[in-house]
Amino acid sequence: MKAVHTELHRNHDPQFYLVRGVVKRTTEQPERADRLLAGLKAGKHELVAPTAFGQGPRARVHSPEYLNFLEEAWEAWAALPDAGSEMIPNMHPVRNEATYPTHIVGRLGWHTTDTSAPIGPGTWAGACAATDVAVTAAQMALDGEDAVYALCRPPGHHAYRDLASGFCFMNNSAIAAAHLRQRHERVAILDVDVHHGNGTQGIFYERPDVLTVSIHADPVSYYPFVWGHAHERGQGAGLGANLNIPLPLKTGDDAYITALETAARMIHAFAPTALVVALGLDASEHDPLAGLAVTTPGFRRIGAALAQLGLPTVLVQEGGYLSDILGQNLTAVLAGFEEAR
Ligand code: ZN
Repeated sequence: MKAVHTELHRNHDPQFYLVRGVVKRTTEQPERADRLLAGLKAGKHELVAPTAFGQGPRARVHSPEYLNFLEEAWEAWAALPDAGSEMIPNMHPVRNEATYPTHIVGRLGWHTTDTSAPIGPGTWAGACAATDVAVTAAQMALDGEDAVYALCRPPGHHAYRDLASGFCFMNNSAIAAAHLRQRHERVAILDVDVHHGNGTQGIFYERPDVLTVSIHADPVSYYPFVWGHAHERGQGAGLGANLNIPLPLKTGDDAYITALETAARMIHAFAPTALVVALGLDASEHDPLAGLAVTTPGFRRIGAALAQLGLPTVLVQEGGYLSDILGQNLTAVLAGFEEAR
C-alpha cells in the first residue's frame, strides 16, 4: 500500500491544551507524524508526495466564510495589541439570532466549538498540506490504486463545515470522501478513532449519499460528550445514513472486532462503491488519552476487518498520540489490511 506524506505538517506546532482547567502542552505534536512515518518505513510502504489541489476540494466541505477565516486568522490576530502566541477563543456564540462578527476575536469564537484547536502562524499552511495529502490519496484511489494511506496532520474528523474543534481545522476524511463522490455514487466513511467523528457526522448528517459510521468510546463519559450517541441516526434525506457505536471505556480487542462486524453489516446494506477509513490509532491501550484498550495484534485484526469490506479504500490518519507503540500500531493495521486483501 502506498502512503502519502509531506513534512509541511510541521508548520502547525500547537502548544495550548486546556484539560480540566489546567493548561498543558497539547498531545497533537509534530512528533506524532515522525513516529507514524517510522511505522510506514517499518512496513516498507512506498512514500508519495502530495499534489497541491488548491481550494476546490476544501470548498466542497467547508463554507467560504470559514475558509477565509482560517486563511486570514493569524495575520489579523497578530495585529492586535498584546496578542498571545496562539489564538485561543474566549467566547463560543451559540448563534441564536446572531450576527456574523467582523472582529477577529468574534470570528475565532464563532468558528470554534472548544479551546483545543489553537491557531498559530503556520496552522493554515499545515492544515492545507493535510487536505492535499488526503485528496492526493483519494485521487490515487480514483486512478486505480486499491488502497492508499494518507498521513494527515493536523487531524480532521472533529472539524465541521464551519467549525474548528478538538485539534482539527479542516476535515480531511470528509474532503477525501467528497473527492471520491465525484465518481462514486455512494461512499462510506468508517471512523475507528477512539473519539466520535462528530465533525464528519455533522457535515453529512442530512445527506443520503455518504454513510457515516463511527466506533468510539462512549460519549457519556468521554469527549466530545454531546455527539456520538447511538440515537443520532441522521436527519431529513440523511436519516438512517449515520451509525454510532459507542463502546464502554477500556473495551478491548474482541468487543472492538464485534463492533466492526456491526459496522460492516451497515456498510454492506448501504452498498457503497468506495470507503474512507478515518484511521485514529488512539483506541490503543497505551494511548495517553486512555479511552479504549486495543492491543497491537488487535490493530492487525482491525486492518484485516477493514480490508474484508472489499472496497477501494482511502485510509486517512486521524488521532493517535505519543506512545512507544504508535508507529508499530500503524504498521500493524496496514499489514493486517494487506494480508487480508
Ligand atoms: Zn481521537
